[in-house]
Amino acid sequence: MNKELYEQLCEDYEKRGLWKLYTHSEKLRKCAEKYGDRIALIDGQEEISYNELVRRSDAMAAYFLSKGFVNGDRIVIQHINCISFAVMCFGMFRIGVIPVLAMPSHREKEVDGIIGISGAAGYIVIRSYHGVEYTALADTMQELHPDLKIMFADDLEAVDLSEYTLDEDSFGKPDNRDTAIIVLSGGSTGIPKLIARTHSDYLHSQKYCALSCGMNEESVSLIAMPVTHNWNLCGPGLFGSIFAGALTILSRNGSADEILDYIERYHVTTVALVPSLVSACLDILEFVGDIDVSSLKMIQIGGALCSPQLAERAMQGFDCVISQIYGMGEGFVCATYPNDSREQILYTQGKPISPGDILRIVDENDNDVPVGEAGEIIARGPSVVTEYYGAPELTAAYFTEDGFYRTGDKGMIRPEDGYIRILGRTREQINRLGEKIMPSELEEYLADYPDAETVCVTPADDPELGQRICLFIKPRDGADRSQFTLQSIRSYLAERQLATFKMPDQLVIVEEMPLTKVGKLDRKKLRDLAERGGI
Ligand code: AMP
Repeated sequence: MNKELYEQLCEDYEKRGLWKLYTHSEKLRKCAEKYGDRIALIDGQEEISYNELVRRSDAMAAYFLSKGFVNGDRIVIQHINCISFAVMCFGMFRIGVIPVLAMPSHREKEVDGIIGISGAAGYIVIRSYHGVEYTALADTMQELHPDLKIMFADDLEAVDLSEYTLDEDSFGKPDNRDTAIIVLSGGSTGIPKLIARTHSDYLHSQKYCALSCGMNEESVSLIAMPVTHNWNLCGPGLFGSIFAGALTILSRNGSADEILDYIERYHVTTVALVPSLVSACLDILEFVGDIDVSSLKMIQIGGALCSPQLAERAMQGFDCVISQIYGMGEGFVCATYPNDSREQILYTQGKPISPGDILRIVDENDNDVPVGEAGEIIARGPSVVTEYYGAPELTAAYFTEDGFYRTGDKGMIRPEDGYIRILGRTREQINRLGEKIMPSELEEYLADYPDAETVCVTPADDPELGQRICLFIKPRDGADRSQFTLQSIRSYLAERQLATFKMPDQLVIVEEMPLTKVGKLDRKKLRDLAERGGI
């Protein structure tokens, strides 16, 4: 999109009051003026008030300045759900340093890509988590990016912040249209696509997501899934919950047990979960029976398609309302609302949460299809970005010239109420537990697997994972078939530093790969085979 049109859109959003003229730090200060010493955040180990969050993040900002970071620098942050993550982000927001998210599940290839594309000056990384040591990863990043300043999260947590005072004249102030944070979207080569969210568009999303799920000062919001995934930061997530005046609880490991325990312990009213976690929580609840979840008022379910059966089971099992939420790091979000009819909540993914977002359903020539017909969902508006960061060729492929984001999702708008239904993907992608995996990436990793002639990766619908990753291998003639086991393939991929969530779940050995009439791999047939459990 050309600069002029972008400027026009920004002015329009500001004039209509959709974009506010302040930053995340300024918003936090307004909240601290209002809520003062009220507890803002609890992470299972400590709690912090609004005032203290301002104080600590200001001191953290001074610390970052003392280490040479300045307005506009990027720092990759690979951290877990805890108060120090919030302090570090707000510290960066304050001085215009931009946090770039990396997930704890990311390994060498992804982190190297994120650092490279963002041109990061710093890298904050946890030392160990869930049995994984990140020190070797940090060493590798240092070798690959010699100028990178590496900071371990626990060292930053141990800094005596009382020694750091922020001097207002010592840094350039960010403004509302500046990039606040860089979030991620799955990439076809395994390197995530980077999405720069401005203070204005990110705050806008948080506010309207909070409104869609009824989050307010009375709410207790549980952030159960990783905060380094965009939804858990802004849908309303960590930031949106803090700004709505809710008491926000961070779950450290995000297991179904911990989620239920936290709901009971902290009288949680609102939680966001992917369908598989909803299902895992319900299984425990039905099995154990005496967990008190009566405080729950709302469960947001999204990240992957939620069946009407699961939606119904969730409403009954938790005795609360749910909001189906369809959204993405690029910013577009639709949701069902608490006052919607039961039928709308069970069978649709709602309507755009932002009053300014424009949703279109188009055919392969970008022409709008008649209402009620299926096509690709594309969107533009005050919560949607108009480009990928540092990747003009990806921007050209994924955005129209006038700045609509092509979601790659297939959907339709219901004539009766204008609500959206998600029907699948127009592009090849596996959605496993809400994590997005491109088959082409795994196929590339396995192209040189010993004695494999052809490999093909497809999704298969799965009751627990949403979709599982199915790997088909045609061995070379005369190859020993016993060497092809799921275990040996996973070890091979682990040695090559593939992130664990991308490991195949199912292996099928075939004599011949099915081909289409034009001689291409018949992925549809393979997917059908995978869903039937193999050959
Ligand atoms: P991410 O950027 O990782 O959040 O992934 C965004 C993608 O997740 C969307 O483009 C959809 O493909 C998928 N997605 C998110 N929410 C839903 C939902 N409620 N139903 C179906 N797919 C969803």
